[in-house]
Amino acid sequence: MISKEHEPFIGFGTTAVHAGQESEKWDSNQVVAPISLSTTFKWEKPGEMPEHGYARTSNPTRASLQQCIAALEGAKHATAFSSGSAASVAVFELLKSGDHVLIDQGVFWGTTKILSHLESHGITFTTFDFTKQDEIKNELQKNTKLVWFETPSNPLLRVIDIKRVVEIVKNYNSHILLTVDNTFATPYFQKPIDFGVNIVVHSMSKYISGHSDVIMGAVITNCDQINNDLKRIQNVTGAVPSPFDCWLALRGAKTLHLRMEKHYENALNIAKFLEKQELVEKVIFPGLPSHPQYEIHQKQSSGSPGLITVFLKGNVDEASRFVHSLKLFTCAASLGGVESLVSHPWLMSFKDNMDGEKLGIRPNMIWFSVGIEDVRDLVVDLERALKMMQS
Ligand SMILES: *Cc1c(COP(=O)(O)O)cnc(C)c1O
Repeated sequence: MISKEHEPFIGFGTTAVHAGQESEKWDSNQVVAPISLSTTFKWEKPGEMPEHGYARTSNPTRASLQQCIAALEGAKHATAFSSGSAASVAVFELLKSGDHVLIDQGVFWGTTKILSHLESHGITFTTFDFTKQDEIKNELQKNTKLVWFETPSNPLLRVIDIKRVVEIVKNYNSHILLTVDNTFATPYFQKPIDFGVNIVVHSMSKYISGHSDVIMGAVITNCDQINNDLKRIQNVTGAVPSPFDCWLALRGAKTLHLRMEKHYENALNIAKFLEKQELVEKVIFPGLPSHPQYEIHQKQSSGSPGLITVFLKGNVDEASRFVHSLKLFTCAASLGGVESLVSHPWLMSFKDNMDGEKLGIRPNMIWFSVGIEDVRDLVVDLERALKMMQS
């Protein structure tokens, strides 16, 4: 039997469909990875640990998914967790009391919340605007052990120059762990590990699973030592995804490349449409030449996810009426599913958060996760809601 493990395929789509899912590895040559529900596995002899011993430690469906996700990021190892947040916590578990973390100001709010929580465990963190790349080195400290960012960022879709940040941080101290949360871009558009990043984190609840029906996360790395630590943390802390969820995520990942192309195409069309509307003040989409970091984005990503930030010409009530008038775009938090979603961050996430304004979130800001529907229907929906906005 020839093992196809880690075999590099020419194209992403082949990896998405096949990596970690060779039928030879299943007892009945299944073409689709089975959902392995057993919590425990038979030992042939007490001294000979089987490949999988106990399902918190290791499970065949999860092992398949981990191989597939690692291959998609072009890396050796992936460790799956029961949510993106649990995956992030696992990365911070690599730190010790006394360590410092530097994060970009545009990270998922929950990531900042985890770090605030860890302050009582002796880990400090500071937040900085990573688009001011040349000033990053002034923010690094002797005890900085981890640098973390997302690009495009959350929720303003700022773009951070991965290669440049890696250079600056590694020049200061090559032992600092660089981590990118690649949930938005996905490995289909951007592979941070190729730029020298040590760790990639995913909320697989978003694009990778892609159908808004799984909560899951993963940490990906090329480093054997980091992987050993992560596997130990996964086993000890026990925040593991269920075999059924792993199977759903594997199934979702098979079409990641097709979905991302469509999300990109739809979002680009909608961004262009919105830019022309009288009632729209500003559109932020990294795939538009009007984006302030368009050149950097072009350099490091082969496309843009279906995320658009829009500032409307209107007050909070008008913006709210616009969101409320949309029918195809469902008003809901999250992103990355096949269906289009819209949110009004000012009212939904930042109302009682004083930092919102400082970060550039305003009452007239709307956030779209564009799905894979027919874009003509989405445009009709937007046109109607814009008309209703001022009525
Ligand atoms: C949703 C999200 C997370 C958290 O993931 P969960 O699966 O919801 O725990 C982390 N980072 C980013 C960028 C996200 O969008």
